[in-house]
Amino acid sequence: MWILEGKERSEAEAYIREAASCARYSGCDDARCGAVIVRNGEIIGRGFNAPPAGSSTKRCHVPKTRYHAKVTDKTCCIHAEVRAIHDALRSSPDRLLGSDLYFVRVDEYGEPKRSGAPYCTLCSKLSLDVGIAAFHLFQEEGIVGYPADEYNERSFAYTDYPIAR
Ligand SMILES: [Zn+2]
Repeated sequence: MWILEGKERSEAEAYIREAASCARYSGCDDARCGAVIVRNGEIIGRGFNAPPAGSSTKRCHVPKTRYHAKVTDKTCCIHAEVRAIHDALRSSPDRLLGSDLYFVRVDEYGEPKRSGAPYCTLCSKLSLDVGIAAFHLFQEEGIVGYPADEYNERSFAYTDYPIAR
């Protein structure tokens, strides 16, 4: 992981703002999220979290403990990152390799909220598989970049307890 500085940081701030505007379309009652995928300074994918197209079933208020441990993803939404990847796969499939993903969650006013440690193995595996180079989060330290393989390893290593970085 690295903390973005200088020109890289100011560019990333613009992408985080763009991801925050995607989050306005979120259909989730729990957490509104947005993501953009960037290749060579151009946004090639945009996404927000909401139930799958064609489904009106929301499960935002169902306690996660209600589901069996084998239920892989206990949220009702397609994650913003997954939607951004689908978007890029439709429009620019050959440009995903080496791209950068920017993810953000927003508050009730649509303002970016700081993310904690990565934990979504669904998104971390998919990002790695489609060739995304790095995942970027707005965190306590600022905008932090994670090479996709490190993001995946850290997601699997997630713990509620503080761990040394
Ligand atoms: Zn996810």
